Amino acid sequence: MSIIQTPSVTTVPVSFEVYPPRSDASDAALHRTIARLAEVEPSFISVTYGAGGSTAGRSLEVLRHIRRETRVEPLAHLTCVGNSYREATALIREFLDAGIRSFLALRGDAPQGAPEGPDGAGDLESAAQLVQLIDRVQAECSPYTEEPIPGVPGAARVERRRHVDIAVAAFPNGHPRSRYPAEHIDALLAKQAAGATLAITQLFFHADDYLAFVSRARAAGVVIPILPGIMPITSPSRLTRIVELTGQPVPGALAVDLDVEPTAEGRREVGVRYAAELCRAVLEGGAPGIHLYAFNHHRTVLATLAEAGVITPTEETS
Ligand code: FAD
Repeated sequence: MSIIQTPSVTTVPVSFEVYPPRSDASDAALHRTIARLAEVEPSFISVTYGAGGSTAGRSLEVLRHIRRETRVEPLAHLTCVGNSYREATALIREFLDAGIRSFLALRGDAPQGAPEGPDGAGDLESAAQLVQLIDRVQAECSPYTEEPIPGVPGAARVERRRHVDIAVAAFPNGHPRSRYPAEHIDALLAKQAAGATLAITQLFFHADDYLAFVSRARAAGVVIPILPGIMPITSPSRLTRIVELTGQPVPGALAVDLDVEPTAEGRREVGVRYAAELCRAVLEGGAPGIHLYAFNHHRTVLATLAEAGVITPTEETS
């Protein structure tokens, strides 16, 4: 069964990303956000993982909350850079023991100034290795499942184990540290070969970036679904930070429209309009759904879905 669910509330499958909050007050706010996001019955809500494991406990808390309080599949981001095999194995077990069955396996980035390479970066050097490790650890924890046989007390049918769903990252405009132009496609192929069942893209600003990337990936042999990751950008400062983080060229029209808008509400509308347009264009081009970076707020991403015609508008989303 695919983690991308047939939608019931939305016209196409949707999913969201949130991050672990930094304080008790933002904890309560995130719980409200999760409840509102859950109302549109997304395929999953993913929870980021701080660089070098800095948020492991808090990420797991949020994942447990999603599992306990909603019917939405929680998807755990995990990074491996800097971890030994033993540490990574223990971490995966902890998440599996908490009932987490869906992961986004990431290489992650070494902290600034930390040495790269086998000594500085731990035993695992790529996301593909983490994909394999997650699958192996799950196979060891639950090699098979037992289904009770109705009417035969104490008897059980042994079934093949339910495999974990393992998503991986994809980069429509290449990874900023790629050493040759197609390295990000080769990396995606390696992750698919290792067992990944879904790719989620880094954010991008033009539908053609995503659509051309999907064509190149398909031509190279990538067959897993590639979900477009879309972020409504609602302020010039956030745009600057995102451009720095992802190494993408500044999207001129969006930058100008955000700059000239005098009010925060006006800038939010600009961000929603651009993101909704992007959603419509990638869906028209064949995207299997929409993954939205929610920044722990439901209003903007739900407004984006409403503007894109994916959910019915309400007073709150207009
Ligand atoms: P891999 O698949 O192993 O490599 C991807 C690419 O990295 C390769 O194509 C290669 O070109 C390039 N590369 C080459 N050399 C290096 C190098 N020295 N260092 C890094 N990359 C190199 N990070 C977090 O810490 N926590 C998160 O929760 C998180 N969530 C993310 C969610 C999504 C959807 C995406 C797209 C990214 C996320 N990241 C997160 C960022 C991610 O960890 C970084 O982009 C990381 O640099 C690459 O991870 P990967 O899994 O794609 O690595």
